[in-house]
Amino acid sequence: NTFAEIDLGEMMNQNIRRCKYAKPTPVQRYAIPIALGGRDLMACAQTGSGKTAAFCFPIISGIMREQYGQRARGGRTVYPLGLILSPTRELSCQIHDEAKKFSYQTGVKVVVAYGGAPINQQLRELERGVDILVATPGRLVDLLERARVSLQSIRYLALDEADRMLDMGFEPQIRKIVKQMDMPNRGVRQTMLFSATFPREIQRLASDFLSNYIFLAV
Ligand code: AMP
Repeated sequence: NTFAEIDLGEMMNQNIRRCKYAKPTPVQRYAIPIALGGRDLMACAQTGSGKTAAFCFPIISGIMREQYGQRARGGRTVYPLGLILSPTRELSCQIHDEAKKFSYQTGVKVVVAYGGAPINQQLRELERGVDILVATPGRLVDLLERARVSLQSIRYLALDEADRMLDMGFEPQIRKIVKQMDMPNRGVRQTMLFSATFPREIQRLASDFLSNYIFLAV
């Protein structure tokens, strides 16, 4: 029942201590070992449950472990290894802020892109390299259409507040996004879906996007 017992590595443990997280919350205690074991995951988790760390820790730790540090480049197109989709600018920025703290000094670079703001600064930030992209679905579709981001290298996908993304009408964008990483990545991609509720539409997303997944309700 401590972070040290979960095998995240010394560097991440140090960052967790910096965040002053004394011990894992329930969703972290169960979700992190499942994700570190490489399994897909559908988790029912509310805001405030510590779900951000639950999906960020395994992604950061996985990228560090596999030493994918060398970022693929193809002109102005960037190839992130991890993608975190979230419904709003506010939530995306919160996730970005937390993920930056969790990945401090690991060499894993996190960038955020959201709609309702000028795209140019986000493009400049992306050009400087990105391992984990935190994005809202509409803005990400825009970046894909401009060929500024490629999802061909995605190894880790997290969908946060999936029910809220569907409520906001993002299902077509989400399906378009996931389709782009299915072709080269089927079988390599690890997917985590977080949702406060688990209605039929979310169950359908889970069965379409996840493979052989573990269902977690805390
Ligand atoms: P979240 O549910 O991810 O939005 O997290 C809610 C709040 O709890 C955030 O401010 C986190 O920084 C904080 N938090 C997450 N995990 C822990 C933990 N293990 N111990 C203490 N605080 C935490």
